Amino acid sequence: MNITKADSAGFCFGVNRAVSMVNDLLKEGKRVCTLGPIIHNMEVVRELEAKGCRPVERIEDVRDDEILVIRSHGVPQSVITALEERRIPYMDATCPFVKKIHRIVADTDDATVLIAGNASHPEVQGIIGHCKTTCYTFNNEAELEDLYTNILKEKNNLVKIVSQTTFDTKTWKKSVKKIKKLCTNPKIFDTICNATSVRQSEADIIAAQSDFMVVIGDRHSSNTAKLFNICKRRCENTVLIETAAELPMNRVYAAHNIGVTAGSSTPAKIIKEVLDTMSEEVKSGETTNLEESFEELLEESLKNLNTNERVMGTVISIAPNEVQVDVGRKQTGFVPVSELSSDPAAKPEDIVSVGDEIELLIMKTNDQEGTIMLSKRRVDAQKGWEELQDKVESQEILSSKVTEAVKGGVIVLYNGVRVFIPASQATASRDESLEDLVGQDVDFRLIEVSQRGRYKRAIGSIRSVLKEQRAAQREEFWKNCEIGKRYTGVVKSLTSYGAFVDLGGVFGMIHISELSWTHIKHPSEVVNVGDTVEVYVKDINEETKKISLGFKNAEDNPWEILKRDYPEGTVVNATIVGLTTFGAFANIIPGIDGLIHISQIANKRIDKPADVLSVGETVEAKITAIDFDKKRVSLSMRALLPEDEQAPVKAAPVEEAAPAEEAPVEAE
Ligand code: SF4
Repeated sequence: MNITKADSAGFCFGVNRAVSMVNDLLKEGKRVCTLGPIIHNMEVVRELEAKGCRPVERIEDVRDDEILVIRSHGVPQSVITALEERRIPYMDATCPFVKKIHRIVADTDDATVLIAGNASHPEVQGIIGHCKTTCYTFNNEAELEDLYTNILKEKNNLVKIVSQTTFDTKTWKKSVKKIKKLCTNPKIFDTICNATSVRQSEADIIAAQSDFMVVIGDRHSSNTAKLFNICKRRCENTVLIETAAELPMNRVYAAHNIGVTAGSSTPAKIIKEVLDTMSEEVKSGETTNLEESFEELLEESLKNLNTNERVMGTVISIAPNEVQVDVGRKQTGFVPVSELSSDPAAKPEDIVSVGDEIELLIMKTNDQEGTIMLSKRRVDAQKGWEELQDKVESQEILSSKVTEAVKGGVIVLYNGVRVFIPASQATASRDESLEDLVGQDVDFRLIEVSQRGRYKRAIGSIRSVLKEQRAAQREEFWKNCEIGKRYTGVVKSLTSYGAFVDLGGVFGMIHISELSWTHIKHPSEVVNVGDTVEVYVKDINEETKKISLGFKNAEDNPWEILKRDYPEGTVVNATIVGLTTFGAFANIIPGIDGLIHISQIANKRIDKPADVLSVGETVEAKITAIDFDKKRVSLSMRALLPEDEQAPVKAAPVEEAAPAEEAPVEAE
């Protein structure tokens, strides 16, 4: 059994300072009281009480001969003012990191203050009590969004955001992202205490490597509760205990790698007791009791001999939390679900079926209960390790599923072994999300398999395989590429002049003019990053390896549509899109505008088209001429009037009435 204790476990600077302040006053012979328990740890509070320090609820309860100590959480400004007005002697042990938050909110007179934290926690109560403007609290990004949508959006005022010192760092990051999206220019102050973030990330790392995680701390302590949640996310088998007496020894015995961390108000003494209890109990569990009879000794030694032995078992039943197996002994064999597979998401029924013969490792026998606890995942891992040693040398490409995204990378479960793929080796480019890999089957190669003592580690690379695959795809592409050939690709990036498409190993560009038959201002009007597109090769430059791609389909060409569906003589409903002195341009179909010459607008003389038409208006007009070479269309409204009303109109002045066929009508 291996025990790893977090270096950051135990008293933080602020708690240590507050407890020392009380102890120093007691040593000086002063009578001391604290406003609320000095820290969230009843063991420490009881110890201080025994020395003469009592917690009080209100400042009214402070006796004349006592000095009051304000604990590290801090208090609202109103409490300080009341203490000073009543001349009650006090010492302020508010942690300097909490004081900094008080200053930030107290200096705010033009913004709404948002506090990430638990509204009922004394630290948050203290912060609220220093705010001069309206303030709100939230616990996560969903609550923040609600707050914004229901209250802040309407007020549309400035926002300042701070956090409780022990707020969860991941939730804070998500909240910051959210507020940046929701508000313009929010003022963000990351006031999570460094001691908290270090403690949380260390706990996260240790829990990821442990099969049993112990969090020590008071159940009322907010930072301990957060540590517990963080560890539980990584290691399902996590417990929160207040003292060594609460240690679940059955779980200690069953574990191979035990991680230990503790909240910021847990004294070193309790942490030591827990560590000592675990090592001593395990030692005593492994040694025989010399006072027992010879028969008992013999039986016990036989039991111990069986531990770590590999046996074959037949699956006899499957339950959600364990699988029962017959291992040919008088005891009932069972495999807890956590010992079936290293994949935390795997379900027992997906791993084994009733009647399966499986190889198992005996972990513990309990003759009193008549059970044998077995592990399948440890056998798989042992076998997997043996196999991995060969694979790292051969550099063989392996395939398996990504089961988790962890800090700094992802885990691929290969033959029961957790292979760590660092983020830099997980994807082809850095901007790809690791979370998206979870659940995917990937090809990878091992780059390191090593063992130090009981610690084994396997590190792999998906990226090196991807690089090779892309190189092979590139070679294949250039071998077969020719102008006109069609490809399916994925849009990887957009610029103002075009879209870059990954054709599998090589990139080609669709120029903006190739994206649409009509005029567009930006490629994003037609395609987006991540879209799968059908393209064809328009041009290739072998030297520079540049590929120009075509995207528009000939059948969508508006001139082809016009030719097919709108021959001369067709009456159309056209929308006026522009007015000049010599006529009006009207849109017939997307991409084609025609000209209604001023002489073709009405059967009477008009000074200028704007006198009778306006942009956006829909008019009925007849297509009177189409010049496909010059891409010009002439329209007439007058031609639709009854014949006797179509009297010729006196021509307008020459410069204002250019003949329809000379007017420039360019297709987009
Ligand atoms: S956790 Fe940080 S802010 Fe809170 S008391 Fe400890 S040192 Fe101060």
